[in-house]
Amino acid sequence: MKKLGCLLLALAVGVSGILSGVTAQAAERNGESEKYVVVLDPGHGGAEGGAIAIHNGKTYREEEINWKIANYTMQALSASPNIEVHLTKKKNQTLGLTERVKIAKNYGADLLVSQHIDDADSSAARGASVLLSRGTYRPALAAKEKIFANYVLEELNKLGLSRRGLVYRMSENGSKYPNGKARDYYGIVAQSVEQNIPGVIVEHAFVSSPYDAVNFLSTNAKLKKIGEADAKAIIRYCRQLPAKQPSSEKPVTPDLFTGWKQKNGYYYYYIDYKLQKNKLLQLEDGIYYVNETGRRQYGWQTVGKREYYFQKNGTARQGWLKISGKWYYFHKKYAYMYKDRTVVTSTGKKYTFDSRGMCTNRI
Ligand SMILES: [Zn+2]
Repeated sequence: MKKLGCLLLALAVGVSGILSGVTAQAAERNGESEKYVVVLDPGHGGAEGGAIAIHNGKTYREEEINWKIANYTMQALSASPNIEVHLTKKKNQTLGLTERVKIAKNYGADLLVSQHIDDADSSAARGASVLLSRGTYRPALAAKEKIFANYVLEELNKLGLSRRGLVYRMSENGSKYPNGKARDYYGIVAQSVEQNIPGVIVEHAFVSSPYDAVNFLSTNAKLKKIGEADAKAIIRYCRQLPAKQPSSEKPVTPDLFTGWKQKNGYYYYYIDYKLQKNKLLQLEDGIYYVNETGRRQYGWQTVGKREYYFQKNGTARQGWLKISGKWYYFHKKYAYMYKDRTVVTSTGKKYTFDSRGMCTNRI
């Protein structure tokens, strides 16, 4: 009986902690509640290069083109007082699809637009298409996506880009939505549905088409036109949305937020809205470290008595790493650096690490 009482108390404390987190989140959104939130996602970038093609000796790199288009769209939208725009990523940052959609969700996106350039084996393929949800799950989102998709194809067509149309593609490996129906194929599209936000991929033109490349992608001025066409479509889309509810009447989202949140260029990790501080985070894609203010850390870090090396994407290095000509080794699972020890590998090789972690017998 006594034990049960304790347990109930613990539960009550836990629940009130979570609720205060939800209230804080709602309050944070108050100031921006009258604006539509649009999140632009420049496709690829960082370690993940996109399509590439060479025409008349000029190299066209998809990630560079996407980045420019997204920034031109953002610039064009900055004149719209009722639209708040965010990018999912920084220049040259490597970012997974799941993270991109989560970031859009965290901003409370009314629309997520992933901006890409298409690629095909045939140089004859050209024009613009939009990849969107078929609506097997949350069909209201698919309906919204279709409205935006038609606007953007229309705006791009005004520039002379041919209209390839709407692309629906369903999963080919049998994956399903929570309602048991077939899941959309493209990660950004399907995960947007799952996060309950409208999210589409715009393939503006073909990098593999000499016609598209020369006419629409070859100069910044041309890319600006594409970016502005997206912005026009976004403005039209927002215009037809119902007016934003005053925030006091807005229902508090019951789903608890867990994941990364970007603020002023820093990443913070939340578990059920609770900011994580001063700890190693063992996540699906690796081990991260957030300091006492909650900021994600990079490079060499000492946590407790152990050293770690956090890479550009924030994950801790595991295995061998050569820095300034010296070899270091980081535990395969826990990522801490080996020091003051000698290890023998399964093949009988012996490595010795000094007090600073440098391997003294590997060149
Ligand atoms: Zn792409």
